[in-house]
Amino acid sequence: MNILIFGPNGSGKGTQGAIVQKKYEVPHVETGVIFRQNISQGTELGMKAKGYIDKGDLVPDEITVPMILNRLKEDDCEKGWLLDGFPRNLAQAEALYDALQKENIELNYVIEIVLDRETSKKRIMGRRLCVNDNNHPNNIYIDAIKPAEKDGKFVCRVCGGELTARDDDQDETAIDKRHNIYYDTETGTTAGVNYFKERVSIIEVDGLPGVKEVSEDLLGKLK
Ligand code: AMP
Repeated sequence: MNILIFGPNGSGKGTQGAIVQKKYEVPHVETGVIFRQNISQGTELGMKAKGYIDKGDLVPDEITVPMILNRLKEDDCEKGWLLDGFPRNLAQAEALYDALQKENIELNYVIEIVLDRETSKKRIMGRRLCVNDNNHPNNIYIDAIKPAEKDGKFVCRVCGGELTARDDDQDETAIDKRHNIYYDTETGTTAGVNYFKERVSIIEVDGLPGVKEVSEDLLGKLK
């Protein structure tokens, strides 16, 4: 099962992605996570990417496109993948589509979580990351996934682990830049979504309701 998931930062894409990933038992390939792992491990790729990520800019396509196309060739992706955070612009969408066509790889689902810019921004600022598991969603502004409290501090609602916030999630300028990229219909992510809309059928999900409602809607639309 090969799946693409689109949605602006803060739309719940990661949370819904984790649910879809469990349903199909395929690896959740998240561009942002791969970059952050490389940064924390101090790899060459991480050092190249960090400056762009801190500013909310896209890491150049020459770095990102081969990184993802190679990742999809790894053994654990043989039974499928859920790709999240890629493509992020029209050029990446074209590169991915061409690579899949060339290798005769079918795209089973393309999911788009639709959410307005203002709500997405608020949700980003409330997002917290569990140090133990990236698929433990926590957000101080969303009741359904509000962190637990221990000794007056927020902890992960799933495992009680420590929570951190991403620097680029607390920086409004960086958030606005990421959203400028997402909502750009000329060359940005929305242009990429539209590129796929012209070629494959897309499952659209309204991201505004709570996590449970959105996942019910989404799971109802997937076979
Ligand atoms: P995310 O975790 O998806 O919000 O991604 C964090 C940051 O990683 C983004 O703001 C970009 O700087 C970088 N990034 C993630 N995905 C891509 C991509 N497909 N192309 C270029 N840069 C990306």
